[in-house]
Amino acid sequence: MATVLITGCSSGFGKLAALHFARKGDTVYASMRNTEKGAELEQARDEEKLKIELLQLDVTDEASVKKAVAHVIDAAGQIDVLVNNAGIGAHGPIEETEDDEAKEIFETNFFGALRVIRAALPHMREKKTGVIVNVSSLAGRVGPPFDGIYSASKFALEAVSEALNYEVHPFGIRVALIEPGGFETNIGSTRRIPRGYGEGSPYLALDQRFEEALTKLPGRDEESDPQTVAEAIYNAVHDEEPKLRYLVGKDAEMIGGLRKQLDDEQFEQTIRQALDFWD
Ligand code: NAP
Repeated sequence: MATVLITGCSSGFGKLAALHFARKGDTVYASMRNTEKGAELEQARDEEKLKIELLQLDVTDEASVKKAVAHVIDAAGQIDVLVNNAGIGAHGPIEETEDDEAKEIFETNFFGALRVIRAALPHMREKKTGVIVNVSSLAGRVGPPFDGIYSASKFALEAVSEALNYEVHPFGIRVALIEPGGFETNIGSTRRIPRGYGEGSPYLALDQRFEEALTKLPGRDEESDPQTVAEAIYNAVHDEEPKLRYLVGKDAEMIGGLRKQLDDEQFEQTIRQALDFWD
């Protein structure tokens, strides 16, 4: 059974992944910024006799990352699986996003994952084993309008994951990217909006039209259960024919599939047509 460290376990995919790995028998270090948000995990641990330990870890705080990783190594001797799940959403036009606002997104979604990877890798290399799962997004494959900064942070995570997979392979370590489409979690309600974006913006009507058009996409109206993503993370770790990228959800499979098949112009035409978004 594996020792698993997951970031961002206070809600959403992270919480569900912590439960899923633990229910399969793994020892899970469920980390979060504020461990007071871990009550549900603690309750499940006690009721189901799961091996879950809550751990304070803020991915934007180097000291907290180092302390958490050192604790897992002290307690378990190794990290077999690292899931970089912590992330924040962002929505708004690129022109109206200031540098500090863009940097906040990168600080969590990109540098946050890098920090935890750097802290865990020496131990994985020493043991000559390990799987690093980075939770990216369909937006790490395509750049949707009004999600440009979020998408950029996930593209950056994808680039680093691809390169890292080559670099660590000789040490018995592999990297996997999980690319979910849209799932109902807290990310929609906590996503960052540029402070200057609102009434009077030349982009507002276009943004609203695009959001409405998105609901027309096939796959969007189907039930999307975040548990699917938790299971996809687990399955990526145990895949007998491991891949670098895993699209998760009907919308991600459809749009990500088109992105793979079509060239840039064909893809743009297809998406504009599907969304009736020609402006
Ligand atoms: P969520 O419910 O909002 O969960 C995000 C988690 O990240 C929370 O536990 C949050 O903790 C944590 N987090 C944020 N900043 C952190 C920091 N500095 N240090 C440690 N933890 C931090 O949303 P989710 O949908 O499950 O998101 C999980 C991952 O999936 C993210 O990387 C997201 O980009 C990705 N994703 C989501 C979707 C989707 O549709 N839901 C689609 C594609 C990709 P707090 O409670 O402390 O804020």
